[in-house]
Amino acid sequence: MIPNNTKSLLLALAIALTGFLASAAVHADTASAALTRKAQAAITPAKALEMLKQGNGRFVSGKNMARDFLAQVKQTANGQFPFAAVVSCLDSRIPLAIVFDRGIGDLFVARVAGNFVNDDILGSLEFATKLAGAKLILVMGHTECGAVKGACDAAQLGLLTATLANINPAVRAVQGDHTPRNSRNPKFVQAVAEMNVKLTMQTLRDRSVVLREMIDKGQIDLIGAMYDVSSGKVSFYE
Ligand SMILES: [Zn+2]
Repeated sequence: MIPNNTKSLLLALAIALTGFLASAAVHADTASAALTRKAQAAITPAKALEMLKQGNGRFVSGKNMARDFLAQVKQTANGQFPFAAVVSCLDSRIPLAIVFDRGIGDLFVARVAGNFVNDDILGSLEFATKLAGAKLILVMGHTECGAVKGACDAAQLGLLTATLANINPAVRAVQGDHTPRNSRNPKFVQAVAEMNVKLTMQTLRDRSVVLREMIDKGQIDLIGAMYDVSSGKVSFYE
């Protein structure tokens, strides 16, 4: 039989503990809350890169943050304030928000087979940065890229032929002793994937006056990266 005063004490402890757990839960939610205009404004290009690095670090160590996506849907219903824009391949193995451990409203993502840029994607990136405030553009290729392999083999199929032609400059630019120069040579394929990221970054600078001026003024940063489909790790080119 527990005396009444002890019962009261236990009840008080239980209430206090519940309150503590509830506040911890609120804190965890706050840590993964959607970005606001104020939060976005406080993020520098260097900080944006650091956020991507830390997010991928959490992903590869199996420690993605717990996020309330439905709450983030509500938080972002009236506006979005993403901190970065990513140009990525179509490949299904690279869900961007997951591999960078980010939530709803955090990243702009432009995806096309072979992660190149054309005027439509550059216009989208101008929107993402100049108008919507993203601080970093990441051009990210990946290992074992089917589009790059297709370009290496000069594959032909309907409209895909023209899509893959965007990667041809990278195929041509890879010099040195690469035999055979086709998809049966993994080192050649990877060299083309890396060259494609570099040439895409160059095309972005050459073709978009808006983006080039923002980069040169330090308002945004342009970074290349490579995603490893066997480990989930992103290597940043700096
Ligand atoms: Zn790909």
